[in-house]
Amino acid sequence: MFLRLQNGTSLKAQEKRNAYPGRMRDFVKELSKHAFFGKVPFLNSRYTYDHIAAQMVCLELAGGPSNVKDADLNRIYENYKDFDQKSPEAKSVIRVLNTLNEIFKEKTPELERYNVISLYCVVAELLKQYVVEDIKASFFNWFIEFERERHIQEAKPSDDAIPEWVTYKEKISHSTDAEESIRWRMEFMLRNLLEKYPDIRLKDNQRDFTHLQRLAIFRRDGGICQLRIKCDGAKLTWDDWHCDHIKPWSKGGKTTVENGQASCSACNTSKGGEG
Ligand SMILES: [Zn+2]
Repeated sequence: MFLRLQNGTSLKAQEKRNAYPGRMRDFVKELSKHAFFGKVPFLNSRYTYDHIAAQMVCLELAGGPSNVKDADLNRIYENYKDFDQKSPEAKSVIRVLNTLNEIFKEKTPELERYNVISLYCVVAELLKQYVVEDIKASFFNWFIEFERERHIQEAKPSDDAIPEWVTYKEKISHSTDAEESIRWRMEFMLRNLLEKYPDIRLKDNQRDFTHLQRLAIFRRDGGICQLRIKCDGAKLTWDDWHCDHIKPWSKGGKTTVENGQASCSACNTSKGGEG
């Protein structure tokens, strides 16, 4: 007997996957019973939890945002029939779910489906690159505040709303399982988090700022050189600016948004080195 996975209607697709034997199915089934799913406001009708758990595994196997449509999920059930439940990817999914479960202490109405996927990516990225202990206690409040801001922005006529929030609304309104949407949402949330909590540190005290830290610093500083040694507050472009450690990295300065500032090349060189 060979059971082919076809793209059925979206509602039936997960039921079909659940009937597809293999270790991927078994692993996803186990994940769907994780305590974190007790915190979401929706029910497990039509195997919604299995569906989301499969999407999480798909994101993990891709190493970050990717398409998590039915065809993509079917592919992992077919290609990972012998999936190793002790593999780094499997452990990573469980680590992210455990972290989410610690952050969300009770059922949280704001944890809508698209948010669960966005938050999965945000937390996975945090665990990979940042010192998560710095943010764990504040993460819940940050998320509730993020949602509050979203509602405020959505209530405004789109001319008055901040353009990025208008785009955000589009990204959560359709194609929420497409890579482009997931990546945009993850980056938007993570940058918002870094702006609100600028002291979040990178793991291993690495010297290079991440893309999102640089973006948060550039925006906060209005794209203007903060050093003003050689210039008078030069207007910078995204292609040509330096991200300077205020307290130099070589003297123990941290690679955080708080300890970063935008500078022009002339000032940065004058300060002496790469900050
Ligand atoms: Zn300058």
